[in-house]
Order: sequence, then structure tokens, then C-alpha cells
Amino acid sequence: MTDSAQDTGDLLPQQNVPLEPLISSEELAKLRKTNISLENRNYELRETVRQLRLQTAAAESERDQFRREARKYKTELSQMKTPPLVIGSVEMPLDDGRVVVRSTTGPQFLSNVAENVDRSLVVPGAQCALHPQSFVLLEVLPRKYDSAVSAMEVDEAPDVVYEDIGGLSQQKNLLREAIDLPLLKPQLFEKAGIEPPKGVLLYGPPGTGKTLLAKAAAHETNAAFIRVVASELVQKYIGEGARLVRELFALAREKAPAIIFIDEIDAIGSSRSADAYSAGDHEVSRTLMQLLAELDGFNVRGNVKIIAATNRIDVLDKALLRPGRFDRIIEFPLPNAEERETILSIHTKKMHLAKDVDLAALAEETDGFNGAELKAVTVEAGMQAIRRNRSTVRKTDFADALQAVRRGREQPEARELPPGMYL
Ligand code: ATP
Repeated sequence: MTDSAQDTGDLLPQQNVPLEPLISSEELAKLRKTNISLENRNYELRETVRQLRLQTAAAESERDQFRREARKYKTELSQMKTPPLVIGSVEMPLDDGRVVVRSTTGPQFLSNVAENVDRSLVVPGAQCALHPQSFVLLEVLPRKYDSAVSAMEVDEAPDVVYEDIGGLSQQKNLLREAIDLPLLKPQLFEKAGIEPPKGVLLYGPPGTGKTLLAKAAAHETNAAFIRVVASELVQKYIGEGARLVRELFALAREKAPAIIFIDEIDAIGSSRSADAYSAGDHEVSRTLMQLLAELDGFNVRGNVKIIAATNRIDVLDKALLRPGRFDRIIEFPLPNAEERETILSIHTKKMHLAKDVDLAALAEETDGFNGAELKAVTVEAGMQAIRRNRSTVRKTDFADALQAVRRGREQPEARELPPGMYL
């Protein structure tokens, strides 16, 4: 033993003595295996955590969506539970802030106006929503012609041209003079120092082209065509008809240049005997008065023109036919043979006609037919050809069509064609 070994008290291992391994190689292999499986497990658990996080996010977004839906349904439910507001119109705003309103069911009320309502909109004639119990004016409705004036049909640019109308040459000239000229060349009337006609009345049997010609006038003058059937202006509730008339003219001024076409004017414009005057009659005459007032306050040189049509000129109130109102009266008779042939050729223009079709002979055979019926004959002849699997229309198709339309004329209830489709 060396001195140094003695110094350290035999603590150092003796040289050349082999070290004992801490763990055996089997144990090492086992530990490595355990380590691998733990790492795998760790990976699996991390993957599970990732999946669960994804699921949580999806569940949270689903929950948010359900919350939104629940909120929507709650609002809908509360809206369903709220009683509807009453529609009315402002009659007169008073200086003390209150307002006289009329509900559409008839009665008038002296009501208050809700704080949030813009007072400048509370003007006579404005449509408003009223609380069902207190009749407080809660809202002034926007001037929305479409809903109120569902009776109106607005055609911004009708595509009917004068050439599409058979015959009626005199009527075309008269309408051009009364409508087209004042709209297109108002200076001519100014120079001549005369006033153009305010309104034109077209009268004659149904289906003789009154609407068609009015549309052609609108096309020619690039004017909007506003058609209203007068019977639709007569409303159930007091004052509604008059309001519709006001709105009709307001709409026309907005869309100017425009042509107002009032069909079946006899529905509001027929004269009545003083007796047998019912509440309904009062409403009709109120609507007529409004129409007359609008006509009277109308600027003849403006770019809105009025055309009315009727099948019953004999029943019209004289007030309507006074100068300054409907002072040009144009008759639309049933077409003669020559005109019937022109109408037939207009409506067969796009059809393939067989050589044996003779429109002149057909025109002779259709004595007493109006334009609409002549069109019905051509359409029905085309249908006959289709049913027989042909694209060329033959004389026999016209013969059958003529019979079908005649049957329809004689017994409208036995008509095979869907009503209103052709006539
Ligand atoms: P109502 O008095 O029943 O309103 P109306 O005289 O206004 O009838 P329109 O609506 O103009 O008749 O005509 C109905 C259809 O008949 C038109 O769409 C058109 O197809 C046809 N028609 C009538 N007259 C003519 C005509 N002269 N030329 C060409 N087609 C015509």
C-alpha cells in the first residue's frame, strides 16, 4: 500500500477492479420498452386532449348558435303576443300637440303623439299606426303606394306600339292629338294660346282596344303607364277611396311623365238618383269628388295625362264630362271586316300559317267579334295545331278555333278555355 492510499483512508477503488453495472441489460431493455409505451401513451393522451378541445370549440359554437336562435324565437314570440297596431290616417294636427286621427275602421279620435315620432311627418293625410287601446299615434308610416294602392298596376315602359293595333286609325289620331302632342310638344299649345285637354274618355264595347291604345300612347311618349280599375278604388272603409285617388295622382306626379288610365270609370262615375242613396253610395261619391278635385287642381301643361275608359258612357255622371275634365270623348266601335282582317294579321304575324288560311274570309266570318275575341281565335287555332302535333296552323284549326270561341260567346259557362286566358 502506497502513502497516498493510506492518506485517503482506502476510499478510492482499487485499480483494475471491473465496475459492477448498475442495472442489468434485461432491466435496461425493459425500461426502454416501458419508456416507449409511456411516450406512446403520452402522445395518445395529447391527441385526445386535442380532439376534446376541438369538440369543446364545436360545442361552444353550437351553443352560441342555439342561444341566437332562442333569442330570435323569444323576440318572435313576444311579437306574436303583442296586439297589432291599428292603421289610420292623420286628419288634423292641433296646436297643443295632439292630433285628430281617423282609424281605417271609420271613427275619428283625438289622440296624443308618441315622443319619438317626428312631428314634421304628422301632416293631414299621412298614414299612421295607432295603439289599439289608447289610439296614441305611435308611428307615421312611409308613403308606400304599392301596398296601399295594390289596385294600381304600374308599367314603367309599356311595349305596345301603334302598329300593334289594328284599325282604329281615327281613334289613334285623336289620342295622339290629345295625349302625345301635349306631352311631347307643349309649346305648340302655348303658342296657339289654348289649353290641351285634361282628360280623355274612351268608350265602347269590351275588348275593342281601349287599354291597348292608351298603352301605345304611353309608349310613344315614353311615359309610365299607371292603370287602375275604378271599382278597386271603392273601398270598404270611409275615406279610403278618396285617399287612394290622392295617392294615385301623387304617384303619377312622382313617375312623370305618366299616363293614368282609369278603367271602368262608371264604377265610381255613374250618376245616381237622389233616392236610394246608401252609405256605400256616399263612399263612392266621395271617391268621385276626390277624383274631380284632383282633375280640377291639375296643371294641364304638366306631364301627367289622364285617360279613362268605360263600356257604359250612358250612365256616366255629367260632372265628369264637363269641359276641363274628361272633355275629349273617343268612341271605340267594334271593328269592321277590313279592321278585323288587320287585327287577325297582327295576331298571326308570328305564326306559321298554311297556304289554305284566308284571313280575309275569316274576317268576313267573324262579324260582331271584338279585338280580344279575334285574338282568342288566333291563339286557339295555334293551340289546335299544337294538339295535333304541328307547327303550321291550317284552315281547319281556325275553323275549330272559331267554333270554340263562338261557343264561349254564346254560353260563357260552357267555355272550354280557361276563363280570362284569351278574352
Ligand atoms: P275592356 O273594356 O274590357 O277593358 P278594352 O277595350 O280595354 O277592354 P283591350 O284590353 O285593349 O280592350 O283589348 C284586349 C285584347 O284584345 C288586347 O290585349 C289585344 O290583344 C286585343 N285587341 C283588342 N283590340 C285590338 C286591336 N284593335 N288590334 C289588335 N289587338 C286588339
